[in-house]
Amino acid sequence: MLKENLANVEKNIEQACKNAGRSRDEVTLIAVSKTKPVEMLQEIYDENIRDFGENKVQELCSKMEQLPSDIRWHMIGHLQRNKVKYIVGKVELIHSVDTYRLAEEINIQAKKQNVIVPILVEVNIAHEESKFGISAEDAILLVEEISKLENIRIKGLMTIAPYVENPEDNRLYFRKIKQLSVDITNKNIDNVFMEILSMGMTGDYMVAIEEGATMVRVGTGIFGERNYKQE
Ligand SMILES: *Cc1c(COP(=O)(O)O)cnc(C)c1O
Repeated sequence: MLKENLANVEKNIEQACKNAGRSRDEVTLIAVSKTKPVEMLQEIYDENIRDFGENKVQELCSKMEQLPSDIRWHMIGHLQRNKVKYIVGKVELIHSVDTYRLAEEINIQAKKQNVIVPILVEVNIAHEESKFGISAEDAILLVEEISKLENIRIKGLMTIAPYVENPEDNRLYFRKIKQLSVDITNKNIDNVFMEILSMGMTGDYMVAIEEGATMVRVGTGIFGERNYKQE
């Protein structure tokens, strides 16, 4: 069943790339595996998926220990400063940096381990109260500040669009964040490379790809509904 889900998602990604005149290899599919058992991750791994997204540090570290070492782990959830030390040097990319204080802590831990940590700045594009992320208005300033931290590389932006019934309702938000990344590129800030746009989830990844996403984070579409009560 997971195999069919994945094939379906893959077909949609290809279609969205085609719609936008983009090449399939411009888009990375991140399988968002939070709350799901390692057996299910292994099943998807066996279908050649190597990028997995988790939103809790403890769960991510535990799964990392149990699964093959060539998996690229993506931290996509809100990150507390006291947990940073557990993932620095281990994950492929931290998608959810939205304050200077958090970036500072990542930089401290990165220095200790003598590594450069790639991150995305999370933008709350729709100004939703319930969500983390910096406002689009403040994003450029934050990028400028973080760019001065020696052991961090800003690779792009991430956003979680509002939950909507009709994915078309998010098109403007995706377009806005793409524009923001272009604006930041045009500022030519040292150490800042807007290569990655992490946007689009199960409900709206096709629209996100049409608007320029380079990473889509798909959970339910691959693994099925999450049951938080069983945790
Ligand atoms: C859970 C989660 C996703 C995946 O959501 P689905 O709707 O299940 O595809 C993507 N991004 C983030 C940040 C998440 O927390």
